[in-house]
Amino acid sequence: MAQSVLTIDLGAICANWRALAAMNAGETAAVVKANAYGLGSAKVAKALADEGVRTFFVAQAEEGVIVREALGAGATICVFGGHMDGDAPLLRDANLAPMINSIDQMLRHVEALPGHPFGVQLDSGMNRLGMEPAEWSALRDIALSQKPVLVMSHLACADEPGHGMNEFQLQTFRQMTDGIDAPRSLSATGGTLLGPDYHFDMTRPGIGLYGGLPFVDARPVVSLEIPVIQVRDVNPGESVGYGNSWVARVPGKIATISAGYADGIIRAMGPKAHVWAGETRCKIVGRISMDLIGVDVSAVKEMPDTVELLGRHQSVDSLADAAGTIGYEILTSLGSRYARTYLTP
Ligand SMILES: *Cc1c(COP(=O)(O)O)cnc(C)c1O
Repeated sequence: MAQSVLTIDLGAICANWRALAAMNAGETAAVVKANAYGLGSAKVAKALADEGVRTFFVAQAEEGVIVREALGAGATICVFGGHMDGDAPLLRDANLAPMINSIDQMLRHVEALPGHPFGVQLDSGMNRLGMEPAEWSALRDIALSQKPVLVMSHLACADEPGHGMNEFQLQTFRQMTDGIDAPRSLSATGGTLLGPDYHFDMTRPGIGLYGGLPFVDARPVVSLEIPVIQVRDVNPGESVGYGNSWVARVPGKIATISAGYADGIIRAMGPKAHVWAGETRCKIVGRISMDLIGVDVSAVKEMPDTVELLGRHQSVDSLADAAGTIGYEILTSLGSRYARTYLTP
């Protein structure tokens, strides 16, 4: 079998949620947007609901429908993108709460779905989504009279604890919301780690659940084992892969493994990335192809059937470093060609 196996430890996701929940007094929700950061939103949401999570967040209504099918009635499912044109049937049928971003969305929502749950998203400085202070003051009394399920905002620099933007956004959010009686939420994983001032009534971690930075104490969640298709000897002067970009200087052994950029192993990580053959770290050599990668296994005594790209020896964030990106992008790039195995709690 040439299919790589991605193993997702649902028990570790639940343990990470418990650890983040223990840091704050309010409710701890779970962000399962983008198919739970590529790991499978139905399975992940179900495991977390069994663990006690009551509120889930997705980016788009369509994602919320999948999570609702997995969870059945009961949990609150919130949509960061708010109420977009054409969303009303999805929001109604799957009972999703849009996080209203603008006056236009508010009008659309009360017109299409009067009395249907919603939240409010405020812009406290990131300038990405949400109502700005002036818009919010115009709408505030009307919106609050409709009892929003949540009033939220999002931090731009929470993964840098010393960054002045955190305090600035905290003060802005306070000015916009102090005294209201709707529940408030400001923080994702990074903000949860900034301490109680940032917690309000609910935190919304995503990446920390999936074992990524900035939650340094997270339990690892994913491992990826890639089958070795062939091993060959190379002599000095022989090249490996497209473009002859790597040339052997000494006699060696090259393994060709069964995964490539079509599986989210982004081509740019080629020059710096490694895989592990048992306990031996092996350099990726030559260009990463669509379905295949060359690995220098000269130092490997007994060649295993598979090599590890993610797992015990290499975290999502160390692989991200090799690719010049962040753990979020590694996870959400994981391809659809893998066999996915779930370890249950
Ligand atoms: C993605 C997202 C989160 C979760 O962020 P993490 O850094 O993954 O914890 C929370 N809130 C909003 C608005 C988001 O877009």
